[in-house]
Amino acid sequence: MAIAVGIDVGGTSTKLGAVTRDGQILSKSRFTTRDFPDETAFLVALSNHIDQLVADLGQEGEILGIGIGAPKANFFTGVVEGAVNLLWNSPVDLRGYLQNYFNVPVIVTNDANLAAVGEKEFGAARHMNNFLSVTIGTGLGCGIYMSGALVHGQNDVAGELGHTSAKVGGRECQCGKKGCLEAYVSAKGIVRTAMKLLSKYEEDSSLRSIPAGQLSPTVIGQEALRGDKMALLVLEFTGDILGYKLADMVAMFNPEAIFLAGGVANAGPLLLEPTLESIKKYLYSTYPDPIVLLPSALKDDEMAVLGGGALVWEHLENQMVIVN
Ligand SMILES: [Zn+2]
Repeated sequence: MAIAVGIDVGGTSTKLGAVTRDGQILSKSRFTTRDFPDETAFLVALSNHIDQLVADLGQEGEILGIGIGAPKANFFTGVVEGAVNLLWNSPVDLRGYLQNYFNVPVIVTNDANLAAVGEKEFGAARHMNNFLSVTIGTGLGCGIYMSGALVHGQNDVAGELGHTSAKVGGRECQCGKKGCLEAYVSAKGIVRTAMKLLSKYEEDSSLRSIPAGQLSPTVIGQEALRGDKMALLVLEFTGDILGYKLADMVAMFNPEAIFLAGGVANAGPLLLEPTLESIKKYLYSTYPDPIVLLPSALKDDEMAVLGGGALVWEHLENQMVIVN
């Protein structure tokens, strides 16, 4: 069985899986990224996990390529450099190391792109050539897929929607700026909104009985689904500020659809509806096309690995030229 190995290198854990052409994950594994603060030890551990993944498939397992998403990974150079949530000091040549070890094509990209390419190959964007994929998790990532290809920009940092300004002089962001979208629309940002609204209003809310530290977007989403007014207000506020920035993206890119992914997107219409309303409110009134905002068709826990696999299948089919 020919497979692509999809890998998601995250600040906390690294996940990998053997992905078939039709988007099945045949075997998967994960390990703690922080157990390997030394980059060489990390590369050895990663290679061992890939070997094991293929061994799990038995004699017929054959790797056709490896696709990896990592913070600050550069599609053109294959190198990860300057990722604050990874502990490595020096640039890490992911592509060079793995290509040398496994002797197959290795495609590396910024982790925010995985959801977009996964959606295109295995999700709801199969028949689309122009769409945006927004992932709300620890941070806010955006993959831009235009004219049938991922938009990488000059150094594979295109689509940093999370660090565009949503509010002048607003909340402090971990990037050092103030008022970034990510400071409002991310796991931390949404919890911050909840804390603020709970202290501002005296309205009864089940959120008040949740111990600090256990409040999360998932919990807020669940309480909103149960009809908790404060939880609903948190999602409305979040949708409004997200839609404000997405209106700009719609004006600039004219996408056929925008997909929302990540834990908080599980709140479904309770987040999607205020976001869509907000896009319409802030978009210029003569915008010609309908605005389509959809939840991702991929499961949260599989999205990144599928995206890694999708990078490989897309590469093999397009035979993209990677220019150093
Ligand atoms: Zn920022």
